[in-house]
Amino acid sequence: MSAFVPLSVPNLVGNEWKYVKECLDSGWVSSVGSYVTRFEAAMAQAAGTQHAVATASGTAALHTALMVLGVLRDEEVLMPSLTFIAPANAVRYLGAWPVFIDCDPVYWQMDPAKVQDFLHRGCERRSNGVFNRATGRRVAALLPVHVLGHPCDMTALVALGKEWGLPIIEDATESLGSRCGGKPTGSIGRLGCFSFNGNKIITTGGGGMITTDDAVLAERARYLTTQAKDDQVEFVHGAVGYNYRLTNLQAAVGCAQLEQLPAFLDAKRRIATAYDAALRPTGRWTLPVQAPWAETNWWLYTALLAPTAKLDRRAVLALLQAGGVQTRPFWQPMHLSPAHRDCQSWHCDVAEDLWQRGLSLPCSTSLDASTQARVIAALLALH
Ligand SMILES: *Cc1c(COP(=O)(O)O)cnc(C)c1O
Repeated sequence: MSAFVPLSVPNLVGNEWKYVKECLDSGWVSSVGSYVTRFEAAMAQAAGTQHAVATASGTAALHTALMVLGVLRDEEVLMPSLTFIAPANAVRYLGAWPVFIDCDPVYWQMDPAKVQDFLHRGCERRSNGVFNRATGRRVAALLPVHVLGHPCDMTALVALGKEWGLPIIEDATESLGSRCGGKPTGSIGRLGCFSFNGNKIITTGGGGMITTDDAVLAERARYLTTQAKDDQVEFVHGAVGYNYRLTNLQAAVGCAQLEQLPAFLDAKRRIATAYDAALRPTGRWTLPVQAPWAETNWWLYTALLAPTAKLDRRAVLALLQAGGVQTRPFWQPMHLSPAHRDCQSWHCDVAEDLWQRGLSLPCSTSLDASTQARVIAALLALH
């Protein structure tokens, strides 16, 4: 039997060894060092922002971004139901509440029309902000997630944010290299958050980044992620801070990975094009498409089984697994998650449908054409 094809694995073929060795040889392994500074500068450049602050994870970046934006206990944040759980958890860390909004059926991103509907019918304006009629809580922010790397419709969301006085944090953890209306994701809201977890388009093993054009917010983020130290010598701390720093070792890997981003984006695009060419003629799958205003990084290639498919996604996953091909369903939508059962949601039917039918397919940047052809043969043999 031929080798197992994993869903998505890191690709560490650049200067990773060289840069990590430099850290080890110089002793600069911890949370201060030239690679942290270099990685922040390179990420600011990649995301097209003035500032970038490295963090220990994408979740830490989201938690910090929500804090510096001033989201308070018992306020609410609008976010998509169909997402990995981290942004919902980050909202809860603050004692604040996510409200889960449905996604659109074509691009699978938080639907601006449904956000508008929630604000219009579910909320009221008062002199001190927008309040949820059902809960009485103030709505504090929008937290769109660029799910699977495809950008949300930021033009519409930015317009809604302006209309309702709501700042935006972009969860760009999956969308490094994607663009929306020509602008990099992570540069459009007040703050953007990235992740360098093992399965993201670039990895540092674990890590994250906050991007922003706002110097005050960046400074506050740096302060809170480094234990809120006011006096370096006397250990005077002006607030309850966090140890959310990225280490120099991780940043060294990050610098090497970021150098390869253009090649990784090419690989992801090539893989997406090959799946599209092979699966579209079968009419048995609903395939992802790129919006006219978007450039996706094709981070995790995901297709939907046709509503009429004989096998459900669990059966397909098991059959493919038996043939040595790893696939993965979508995340359980947040409005169904036991972890967030006390949170409000707003008509999340599309998210449920996508969850039932979606499967992510192998798309490591190292996936070669012949291995992908094997995956495609296994997919075609299903019917
Ligand atoms: C990966 C991911 C995160 C969190 O990143 P970590 O670095 O694993 O903490 C947050 N949001 C989304 C949508 C993600 O996919």
